[in-house]
Amino acid sequence: MKTINLVEVFSSVQGETSLTGQMTTFVRLARCNLRCSWCDTSYSFGKGTPCSLNEIIEKVKQNGCRYVCVTGGEPLLQPTVLDLIKELCDQDYCVSLETGGSLSTEKVDSRARVILDVKCPGSGMQDKNYWPNLLRLNAHDEVKFVIQHKEDFDFAVNVCKKYELFNRSKEVLFSPVFNLLEPKQLVEWILKDQLPCRLNLQCHKYIWAPDTKGV
Ligand code: SF4
Repeated sequence: MKTINLVEVFSSVQGETSLTGQMTTFVRLARCNLRCSWCDTSYSFGKGTPCSLNEIIEKVKQNGCRYVCVTGGEPLLQPTVLDLIKELCDQDYCVSLETGGSLSTEKVDSRARVILDVKCPGSGMQDKNYWPNLLRLNAHDEVKFVIQHKEDFDFAVNVCKKYELFNRSKEVLFSPVFNLLEPKQLVEWILKDQLPCRLNLQCHKYIWAPDTKGV
């Protein structure tokens, strides 16, 4: 029987991406191969609890949301996640996959929307970016840069230009590191450069206390 090591399944409003505000069921998988300096989900680094695909899909069903976000940790560390995504797509859920961008997205069901992080220098994980992922984006995929300072911003702009991300992805998301970069400062940089990106605030951190889990 195929299993996945799970941290939690819960429903909430989507706090990020172009789907912000949509009622969504989150399936958070265990373990991550990265250690971003500003990580806010280090509680996913452990082994998690093994669950069968059927158990997870049943939990998703019980939550009753049309949107399902598979996240982590790093979901692509567990190959069975590919089966989970396919099954959810077969059952007509609108599936998104959040990945840290260090592992190949090649085998992800093309019906799912990939939310691909590109790690900026401030994360300390810049060397882990798997660049071929940026060449296989589908038109509904979104690319996210978490930005801590001006060096990160300049890095993100260069990557966007090099890979023509503004033309080739549904959205380019610029997200300030919570409590380390003022959103206002990031907006000023975006406006100055007239970038067609989307400001991506983690709205769940404004609705609930920033360290609240399961929201
Ligand atoms: S990829 Fe995500 S879960 Fe992993 S360390 Fe970075 S922010 Fe945390």
